[in-house]
Amino acid sequence: MLVAKFGGTSMGTADSIRKVAAVVKERGIETVVVSATSGTTDQLIKMGEIALAAGDWAQGIDALVQKHDEIIEELGLDLSLEEYYEDLRKLLAGIEMIGELSASARDRLMSFGERMSSEILAELLDYEQVNGFDVMFCDDSYGEGEVDFERTGEAVRERCEGKKVVITGFVGRSSAGNYITLGRGGSDYTGAIVAAVLGAEELQIWTDVDGVMNCDPRLVKEAKVLEEMSFGEASELAYFGAKVIHPKTIQPAIEQNIAVRILNTFNPAAVGTLIKDKEGDSLKSVTYKKGITIVNICSSKLLNARGFIARIFEVFARNEISVDVVATSEVSVSLTIDVDVPAAVVNELEEFSTVKVIEDLAIVCLVGDGIRESRGVLGKLFTALDDHNIKMVSLGASKRNITFLVEAEEAQEVTKKVFNTFF
Ligand code: ASP
Ligand code: MG
Repeated sequence: MLVAKFGGTSMGTADSIRKVAAVVKERGIETVVVSATSGTTDQLIKMGEIALAAGDWAQGIDALVQKHDEIIEELGLDLSLEEYYEDLRKLLAGIEMIGELSASARDRLMSFGERMSSEILAELLDYEQVNGFDVMFCDDSYGEGEVDFERTGEAVRERCEGKKVVITGFVGRSSAGNYITLGRGGSDYTGAIVAAVLGAEELQIWTDVDGVMNCDPRLVKEAKVLEEMSFGEASELAYFGAKVIHPKTIQPAIEQNIAVRILNTFNPAAVGTLIKDKEGDSLKSVTYKKGITIVNICSSKLLNARGFIARIFEVFARNEISVDVVATSEVSVSLTIDVDVPAAVVNELEEFSTVKVIEDLAIVCLVGDGIRESRGVLGKLFTALDDHNIKMVSLGASKRNITFLVEAEEAQEVTKKVFNTFF
């Protein structure tokens, strides 16, 4: 038993939706989860903001209506989404009238994308459309709904087991009985939950690339799709724009030991990337990310001091800055952030230490469970990078990633060298 989730680009045009239908039919998939048609969620959010500012949202709605009607017409379907359009207009008129856009109203607004796209695919496949509002029971954290697995499991099994269904991704019901959404990109999360509660053998995430690659193909021609990787490796890569999946969203499937496969709707013959909850033993990928700043914090008081590091992190947390890579010595802490460091942060840190900020850097990261057996890897790595000035190094506890920092302008060259050394 399979659960297949199709993303926004797969649902983007009449043509791509036909490709989705072909995949579903050829593979005999009975449980389908869909995203909104591409760009629709962003467009809905924008319209909510325009309505709130009493601007002209009607035009935006007309464009959205036209887009969906054209898809329906091109697919030759006998389907009307008029009721949705009408509700959508009422909702936006209401937002404009009261001059308020609550978190719950915003989620209701965002839910229209998946509700409409799922109607289209269900009609094309002659499957039953299932609204997440009826089966995905959540708490009240609008915009980032947390799913109640027990209730959801019962409801999903009752509505979907043994049937052919197209389920709205991203959409659920809050405990107060309102529409709620599961966070941006949340259709993957729906897919994982459905797979988990139905005990699927595999969760397929159908997207517009052949899978996760071992390097950026724009940088190295020889970059390849990885046939297999562990969940841990996928999680490490997610930070580096290998955004094919967000680790949090597939967690429910991984916890139930359900394999997750990334596949390409536009090239269905490609084997894709299989993500498993089993550690591998090789090196998988090298990536980089620019726009990184190092903050070096030194203090002689750090020696044998208690709570010093906590104090540093507290400053970043209070300023809502996420700290990524960390390295410490006895009297200094180096950390990286991917935003400019606000003057207020520097001032606060300077109250108890000396601060030095280095900007325009890049993180380069070599990922693979095989790093665990790191004998030789570090030596080979740094020998290959002999000509470069490495600013900071971190070999994390997971032992599946070696991260180091270089000047942003050297990032590409360094990444290529690492690729040529290990792949
Ligand atoms: N449509 C939603 C979004 O754009 C959910 C998804 O596509 O997974 O975030
Ligand atoms: Mg997506």
